[in-house]
Amino acid sequence: MNELRRVYIDNSATTPLRPEVLDAMLPFLKGMYGNPSSGHHFGREVKARILEAREIVAEALGASPSEILFTSGGTEADNIAIKGYAWGKNERRGGHLITSTIEHPAVLEPMKYLSKNGFDVTHVDVDPAALIHPENVAEALRRNTILVSVMHANNEVGSIQPVKEIAELVKEKGAAIHTDAVQSFMKIPVNVDDLGVDMLSVSAHKINGPKGVGVLYVRKGTKLDPLSHGGHHEWGKRAGTENAAGIAGLAKAVQLGLASMEENTKKISKLRDDLESRIIAMIPHVRVNGSREKRLPGSLNISFECVEGEALLINLDMVGIAISTGSACSSGSLDPSHVLMAMGIPHEIIHGSLRFSLGHANTMEDNDYIMAHLPRIIDMVRNISPLWDMEEGKPISLEEAERGANLH
Ligand SMILES: *Cc1c(COP(=O)(O)O)cnc(C)c1O
Repeated sequence: MNELRRVYIDNSATTPLRPEVLDAMLPFLKGMYGNPSSGHHFGREVKARILEAREIVAEALGASPSEILFTSGGTEADNIAIKGYAWGKNERRGGHLITSTIEHPAVLEPMKYLSKNGFDVTHVDVDPAALIHPENVAEALRRNTILVSVMHANNEVGSIQPVKEIAELVKEKGAAIHTDAVQSFMKIPVNVDDLGVDMLSVSAHKINGPKGVGVLYVRKGTKLDPLSHGGHHEWGKRAGTENAAGIAGLAKAVQLGLASMEENTKKISKLRDDLESRIIAMIPHVRVNGSREKRLPGSLNISFECVEGEALLINLDMVGIAISTGSACSSGSLDPSHVLMAMGIPHEIIHGSLRFSLGHANTMEDNDYIMAHLPRIIDMVRNISPLWDMEEGKPISLEEAERGANLH
């Protein structure tokens, strides 16, 4: 039996590890086991490599090494930024924070936690293209606003937010600004001074690095309370022996990502545009979600009328194609995506949404393979839908659907 061809087009969820990254990590999993806090040879050689990695990451972000805090990933970076800042800012527990309705759960959940523990949180809405308007943030700013957290680019539809403009407004009012740059880093330029942010989160496994390691950039002078207390690692802001292998892998992924960013952006956006135009040309009753101009190069979110995204996911997986749907994937639940809801897309349309996210490993052959299967699978799923008029090849009108429902 032939082995099933596999097409991975879910790079917003995670990315394949580059072989060079693995090579950079292996020494730490073999001979270089020293604890970087140890004063002897074993410790010092690891400490030196962590220092090097810190310099590489700092340079990539336009920061200095002392502003780089290694974490266990994007989630922890977001949590330290939000809860650490809020707690560090106000011992009495209080104050106001602003975020958007389309953030990753790693931002929304700490915000929710704070709002249950004495802080006020405002969620700024987005427009139908999933873009935050700076004037809406300006309107939400209060005298007691301490922190604003808005993502640099969205993980579901790829929309790129005007973080720089928002940061200017926030700084005018004397508040701090954090941005989750997990999706944008290594896809578009990310520089902490250009963006004007005080804190910025990065995750290694979204940039072809290993899972379980990330970065929080913390601008000099920004006070944070630690979430975990212990040794004096990471400037006393994040206790725990450093994940040396992960940190080395992250630094390698950054170097490789920077060197190929321009070339990758060109290649990936061309593939994305090709896939998008072929889907629109070959499959009727579809809509592209999110901004088409201010969008990450590999992002493509499409709604197919009269289908269930989950049915598509399963059928595509059977032919080896790996994608995400417009439902919350984290809990395996079928709650419609909060991002697509915030954009004002109707529930029934959200349920038929797919998120394609392309990475550097994708090829035109992948597109060909997807297009050899997707139209057929959509047809098949639509033909068993009570909402689809098989003969006419279009959605059944509401009156007809109601009449049909009354017969049963
Ligand atoms: C993946 C992701 C995270 C979480 O990063 P982890 O390293 O998996 O914890 C946070 N924010 C965004 C936008 C993401 O896409």
